[in-house]
Amino acid sequence: MFTNSQSSSLQKQSIVIVGGGSAGWMTAAALSTHLSPEHFHITLVESPEIGTISVGEATIPGILEFNQMLGINEAEFLDFTKGSFKLGILFKDWYEKGNQYMHPFGAYGVSLQGIPFHHYILQEKLNDGISMRDLSPYCIEYTAALNNKFSHPQPQSRSPLASIKYAYHFDATLYAKFLQQLACSKGVIHIQDNITKVNQHPSGDIASVTLTNNPIVTGDIFIDCSGFKGLLINQALGVTFEDWRKYLPCDSAIAMPSEALTTIKPYTISTAHENGWQWQIPLQHRVGNGFVFASEFLSEHKAIEQLSSQLPSAAIGEPRILKWTNGKRTKVWEKNCIAIGLSAGFIEPLESTGLQLIQSAITRLLSLWPNIPIANAVRDQFNAYTNQEIDAIRDFVILHYVANKRSDSRFWQHCQQIELPERLRNKMALYEASGNIFRDDNELFNEISWFSVLNGQGVTPASYHPLANNLSIQSRRKYLKTIAGAMQEATANMPDHGEYLAKYVAQSSRPR
Ligand code: FAD
Repeated sequence: MFTNSQSSSLQKQSIVIVGGGSAGWMTAAALSTHLSPEHFHITLVESPEIGTISVGEATIPGILEFNQMLGINEAEFLDFTKGSFKLGILFKDWYEKGNQYMHPFGAYGVSLQGIPFHHYILQEKLNDGISMRDLSPYCIEYTAALNNKFSHPQPQSRSPLASIKYAYHFDATLYAKFLQQLACSKGVIHIQDNITKVNQHPSGDIASVTLTNNPIVTGDIFIDCSGFKGLLINQALGVTFEDWRKYLPCDSAIAMPSEALTTIKPYTISTAHENGWQWQIPLQHRVGNGFVFASEFLSEHKAIEQLSSQLPSAAIGEPRILKWTNGKRTKVWEKNCIAIGLSAGFIEPLESTGLQLIQSAITRLLSLWPNIPIANAVRDQFNAYTNQEIDAIRDFVILHYVANKRSDSRFWQHCQQIELPERLRNKMALYEASGNIFRDDNELFNEISWFSVLNGQGVTPASYHPLANNLSIQSRRKYLKTIAGAMQEATANMPDHGEYLAKYVAQSSRPR
């Protein structure tokens, strides 16, 4: 736990979090866990009238570390949030209609003679002259997902079961509520009121916020979790927004829940349609569904029709329309205000990165927690790191669109022509020439993730690592067969995901 004993002043630091969506409550829960109440006073203000976005239900494995950092009991959390386990994302019809591939959370095979596994796959692929190799036999998360199996990693096992990587699906509103209870139990003051004015010191720092029914709330540090509008970072401090619509054309979604399915799949499904893509997120009590599209190519009315006709079960709610601009705040930390969540930037939900960006911002903030007055070097470091992180995620998401081979609509043809940011152009050029993939500093998605999508989208390099040729064709075949056999055997020993989940949440000590 941090104290502010090194601070130039021994006064209590006052922190004001604006917004009570996932970003606000994740921040409140983490700060109240790590900042001693003796030295820090934390208030969260949220409007009872302005709702939260209430999506953000699919996650990636980093969420486990975040929940562990808060001391959350996993069974209680999954019980409360009606969650399920997630082993990856199945992309259907993205390369071309009728094809599917998974971006699983785990690795494929194992490196051999210092050469990453994917080069042996590329060697086969090039020899056989095929554009897309089925990678499911070589990855435990992939094989297990397709068989609806799940188990926690078994570190003692000498099989692929030792290191299963997973994340969660959960109900976003229930997650925020779960974290609210945690944060308030650790002393966070919760005010439900509208902020009508943001008041600044002559220096430009934020001094306080004026509320409709409560006294003014003053603070030393303000965290803007107010959603897309950026009440503090944008409207008060005027920090500009870098618009990425030329890279990522989708700017709208229709969300509509439907009844729970008997089989709770341990993966998200992303299905490409003629003018966008549909998500399917399996929870215990319902399925989260959404259709993401570009308003330039499809009307809201048609998008609602599209989603309604493709639901996996009967609808249990009205369609909700969500709109955004992909992009980032040019500085997420300005003066004494740090933007976290949608106020800081947003990349459409294809790779479930919204909550990950929130948790990494929180972790970074804790490690750079400032003294007052705040040093410019601290702000600069935070901003530089945040920029690198979000730029790299943007590039990974663009790859899915630009590498499609669909010719059935103007939308997909437009996507094939997307201008590539320089880093992505270089990354693709390296892969196309040599089969090599390098992970840049601070990049969230590793070489395995990039390979999953490059292979799945049919991007084939001219060559593979020459040292892979040290293995004879027979030895390579044997090596791939051994790996596939080990994955198959391990999967056969795993329980059904739905049954495992039901037993696991039943251990929760929370009253139902
Ligand atoms: P919000 O939920 O919008 O919260 C804003 C808060 O600010 C509210 O509490 C509101 O009351 C308050 N507020 C605003 N103005 C005032 C005021 N004047 N006075 C007082 N309070 C105020 N992320 C994932 O990780 N996985 C996903 O699968 C995923 N899917 C998504 C799908 C879509 C279509 C979209 C748009 C996003 C998705 N995301 C996903 C992103 C995720 O939803 C967000 O990152 C997350 O919910 C954080 O939102 P937020 O808390 O920043 O904003």
